[in-house]
Amino acid sequence: MVSDMIRLHPLTEADHECPHCRVRLSVEGWHIPGMRCLADLRCASCRREFYGDLAAGQALYTPMLLEKATGAVYDPHGVEWFAEWLRQSYARRSEAPVPFDVREHLPVTRRVVLLNCLDTLYGHSLLKLLNAQSYLDWRTDVDLIVIVPAFLAWMVPDGVAQVWTLGLPLRRGTEWNEWLAREIRRRIEAFQSVSLSHALSHPRPDDYRIERFTRVEPFPLDEWEARLKRPTVTFIWRDDRPWSAPFGDMPHTRRERLKLLIRRPSDSTDMQHRHVSVLAEALRQDWPALDFAVAGLSETGSGEGLPAWVEDLRRPSTDDEGERRWCERYAASHVVVGVHGSNMLLPSGHAGAVVELIGPERWGNFTQDILFHEANDCRETLFRYRFLPDSTPPLALAQLVSLLLRGRESFRHLMNVSTRTAAT
Ligand SMILES: [Zn+2]
Repeated sequence: MVSDMIRLHPLTEADHECPHCRVRLSVEGWHIPGMRCLADLRCASCRREFYGDLAAGQALYTPMLLEKATGAVYDPHGVEWFAEWLRQSYARRSEAPVPFDVREHLPVTRRVVLLNCLDTLYGHSLLKLLNAQSYLDWRTDVDLIVIVPAFLAWMVPDGVAQVWTLGLPLRRGTEWNEWLAREIRRRIEAFQSVSLSHALSHPRPDDYRIERFTRVEPFPLDEWEARLKRPTVTFIWRDDRPWSAPFGDMPHTRRERLKLLIRRPSDSTDMQHRHVSVLAEALRQDWPALDFAVAGLSETGSGEGLPAWVEDLRRPSTDDEGERRWCERYAASHVVVGVHGSNMLLPSGHAGAVVELIGPERWGNFTQDILFHEANDCRETLFRYRFLPDSTPPLALAQLVSLLLRGRESFRHLMNVSTRTAAT
């Protein structure tokens, strides 16, 4: 399967209509002042000038127009968050230089495809980058150039001709930067022919392999049983979206054994500590050799709020090496557990199985944060990727994780799941 692209330079493919005259706008060129890839447009009838989204990223689905003179945004799809990013970024245009590092890995001899991974949301940036592999594997007639924010540079796969790394933090991810636009233009115009990647927001799971990006092989599913000698489970922590379900009912004996952990929490962080601790302890009752860790971004001090035997891999911030070490931990995990969000992308991409807690306000984002691997039998996929209400109490969750650990082999047997794995 091939991700597609549109022409960018010297000709630009764009199809927008004047919101006043309802005639097709003429395409005068292109403008890339950051995450937004735009066509420079003019109405032959009313002579108004516009910028219109090119078909990349979210704009592939919900393209918008911005009138240059007024800054008014025309949003026929009614996607307010995406319209607001455009409106605000244009109103606050910047001229400030941005750290811009160019790495030329391979000579550029063919048509260039530009993959712009800039965004203000971590998950959006990462998902855009996953589009790279299909060009590398399937398009031998193009050279790929990727634009990435610095935090993602470590994940750029081998085979990319040039990597343009921008020192633009996520919070400035929507920035409209004219200095940057000039830098990108200067470099793009040096090439004869450049296309723009669609940068699909959600590339198909069989169009990428996560290890090409992280250089970490995911959990070897054929070793699931052998590795039960030391069942490995990792909870994916984030401070800002805690698991704070009510405790719910539990059998009396368990309540007695876990009672020290079950008291009124002081806040949502405390509540999440209690939940994760009960989950870990309950699992250890079933699996004495359990290896349980907590990973993710957190301001909490190391080990704080967790049983001493639980490995605490949380850090207040991370870097390339830290990200890689987390990926190694996910890849060693039979199961990762966590609350819905982009925090689940790399864990799901590497772990054997996923249990995700998802609240009703996120039902519309179902599976957007999951990187499936070896998902070639829908029954097996449903077995390994579980979604529970975020109101699920920790003992019920422990019961499910235990079942996943213990039951995968018999499930596969019963369902006659083929032992064939996805093509390598
Ligand atoms: Zn017009």
